[in-house]
Amino acid sequence: MKSDIRVCSAWRDRHDRPVYSLSETCPECGAATENSAPAPYNPEDPHGEYRRARKRRLAEEPE
Ligand SMILES: [Zn+2]
Repeated sequence: MKSDIRVCSAWRDRHDRPVYSLSETCPECGAATENSAPAPYNPEDPHGEYRRARKRRLAEEPE
């Protein structure tokens, strides 16, 4: 299911954590927001590295 929740596209540079919004601009810094799905990168996510590695492998496999 596609989410309507959006996240600041510049949060990695401008905020300590993802800033979510329903609008197309970040309420804190005014940067454009992007759809939050798939889950945004979370440096504290213990499964993040696994998920990214898996995604990388899938991307490299031929159709
Ligand atoms: Zn922002």
